[in-house]
Order: sequence, then C-alpha cells, then structure tokens
Amino acid sequence: MEDTVLVVNCGSSSLKLALFDCQHNKLASALAERLGQNDAFAHVGGLDKAIPLDPGASHDQALNTLVTVFQDEGLMASAPTAVGHRVVHGGETFREAALIDDDVITAIEDCAGLAPLHNPVNLSGIRATLARFPDVPQAAVFDTAFHQTLPKRAYLYAVPEAWYRDWGVRRYGFHGTSHAFMASEAASRLGKTPATISVISAHLGNGCSIAAIRDGISVDTSMGLTPLEGLVMGTRSGDVDPGLFDFLRGKGIAADEVHRVLNQESGLLGLSGQTNDMRSLCELADHGHEPSQTAIDVFCFRLARYIGAMMASLSHLDALVFTGGIGENSARIRAETIHHLKLMGFELSPDLNNHHGEFSDGRIESADSRFPVLVIPTNEELVIAREASRLAGALTPD
Ligand code: AMP
Repeated sequence: MEDTVLVVNCGSSSLKLALFDCQHNKLASALAERLGQNDAFAHVGGLDKAIPLDPGASHDQALNTLVTVFQDEGLMASAPTAVGHRVVHGGETFREAALIDDDVITAIEDCAGLAPLHNPVNLSGIRATLARFPDVPQAAVFDTAFHQTLPKRAYLYAVPEAWYRDWGVRRYGFHGTSHAFMASEAASRLGKTPATISVISAHLGNGCSIAAIRDGISVDTSMGLTPLEGLVMGTRSGDVDPGLFDFLRGKGIAADEVHRVLNQESGLLGLSGQTNDMRSLCELADHGHEPSQTAIDVFCFRLARYIGAMMASLSHLDALVFTGGIGENSARIRAETIHHLKLMGFELSPDLNNHHGEFSDGRIESADSRFPVLVIPTNEELVIAREASRLAGALTPD
C-alpha cells in the first residue's frame, strides 16, 4: 500500500480529515460534525459513506473511528508517513510550521489564551493522533504564521504599548495557509516566482479576510487579534466602533453578550435577519427581499474599501485574487465589489467573470483593466499536507 499523508483539522464541534498520497493527490476525506452532542455524525467522502458515531462522541473518538475506516477500506496502511495539523493560533512564537514535540505542544498551549475556542480543540486532535501513531512525524501548521512578517506599523494597534508588551495585544491575522497558497498559485499562473509576486488576496468564505502580499510575504491583513476584525462575514460583524461596548453597556447589555452577538449573530445573518449563507442571500435579494440586498451591499462595499486600503502596503500589484466559497463561486459579489473600484482601474470582463475564469486560467479582468483579477480555488489541506511532508522529510537521514 502506498505512503500517505493525513491532514487533521479540528473545529470547535467538527473534525475534518483529508488523506493524500505522496505526490499530494487527495485520496479521501472525512467529516465529523456535532461532536460532543447527541446527534454527532460522520461522513466519508469518496466512499460516500455515512459512519455512525456514539452520541456525544469526542474529537478523539471521531478521529479514531474515521482513521479505522480509512484503514479498513484499504486507503491507508497501518500508519501514514506524516500527519499535518491545522492550528489556529501560533502567537509570535511560530513564524512557520513546526514539527510537533513536547516544546511545541507547550507553546501551542501557551497561545490558547489568544484562541480559547480553537487551540485547545486543535491540541485534542494532536494528542489523539500522537496516541494512535506515536512514531509518525507530525507537523503543526498555523493560520497566523504567514502573517508574522507584518511590519510593526501594520500589526500594532494605537493602544497603550504595555497592552502589547504584557499581553500580546496586536494584529495576528488568520487564513494564512490560504493566503500563502493564493500567492504561490498566482505566481505560477502569471509566470512569476513566489518570491517576487505581489497580490491582494481576498478569502471570502463563511469567515472572510484579505491580505496584502508584497514580494511573497504578508505585509497587511484585515483580521486582527482575533478573527472578528475586518470584513463582513457570515455571522461575524467585522469592524465596528469599539465605543459600541460602552454604548450597549448603557442599554444593559454586558460585554460578553455583545461579544457573542458580534461573533454569532451579526455579519450577513445580522443584516439580513435571514441567513449567513451568501448563496441563499442572493436568491432572497433576487426575490425582492430588501434586507438581503442591503447585507450584500454592505459586504461588497466593505470589501472594496479594504482592497483600496491594502494598496497602501504595496509598491506594485500583480493581481487581485478571489477565493473561498463566495470568492470562487459568486460572480455577482465579485462584480458588485469591483464596481466600487473603477477609480483604481479595476475592471472585470462580464463574460469571464460569469464563467469564474474557467477558460482563462482563472483570469476575469477586462482587456482595459489596470490589474489582473483572478479566481483561484483555495486548498488549505494541500498546503498542510505539503508542509507535513517537508518537515517529515527533514527527519529522514539522507
Ligand atoms: P466556505 O466557508 O469557503 O465554504 O464558503 C461558504 C460560503 O460560500 C457560503 O456563504 C456559501 O453560500 C457561499 N457560496 C458557495 N457557493 C456560492 C455561490 N454559487 N454563490 C454565492 N455564494 C456561494
């Protein structure tokens, strides 16, 4: 049986697994959802098979069940050759992916204060996989690492300096694996090297962020200390006036409730009062539902403003790149956003945009556009698999 690389992505109540061969072709994927709840369930893609899980199944149980399915189905030998884990927050400790050992685990634990909903659950995936495959090299790939190159002027907030020094209050940025992938894919499509490419990368999924990448490194991004800042998202507000907390305290709403609403009941959902799902919002707007059109307008305008803002970090621009479920699939959102950017010289070809750049290597700009505009499907799992192979290979003696 051939060598494989396993990619593990633990969310707060979900687990995603992806299995790659050594050429990094995807062999299988699996998803477990509603973990910790009575109706936990799992599904293995490729086999198109529903897998029963015990009620209240943990990440650990789901991981072991799904790995056993991969093995029983002959997709994976007794152990993979490497495992890659998505870890949300690497603080200032991790500037790149790291081979997991006791020190790395302690450092991920130390960053948990910055991502209390994510790092502990990422660690539970790491521990479960280490218990199952104690002799297999495992890598942690951080959402924040790619943005550790941000200059001070971009990562510091204008707050008392001691908040940064004592508590690490600064912009970290997220979606780093996706933005890094966008930059390297754009480079190969435009005939440039990853070290010379300068792009603005817009990752628009249920979570949304944008990054300015100058000569291959991240120099600005919209998410901050937490993934709440920046663009309008599915249920997250993005930027609001921090004065909102005091204003709402005056209305009897405690800070933790404001925080919950800004994370879970705002964004597209809050504005439309209907859904956080962009595809459904577009359908509702087409049927005359005004709040849905308003949600779309706010989403696109905020995005356009941020594209403009990212220009301040670049000396030239090779391309604007769209990715994520919305960025890859919604011609309407791309068109409404670019419509605001005429003054900067961005212009789409309606034809290419409507076909998501299918016939032009992802390019959707018009002949008159000042800058190329690309649609590139993101592939965070592939980046994690590559990093795990690279780090595992580093262990093998020549
Ligand atoms: P992701 O988190 O990357 O899976 O992206 C999820 C988002 O992409 C949801 O808001 C979906 O509604 C949106 N999406 C997927 N396909 C389309 C589409 N054809 N048009 C508009 N939004 C889409």
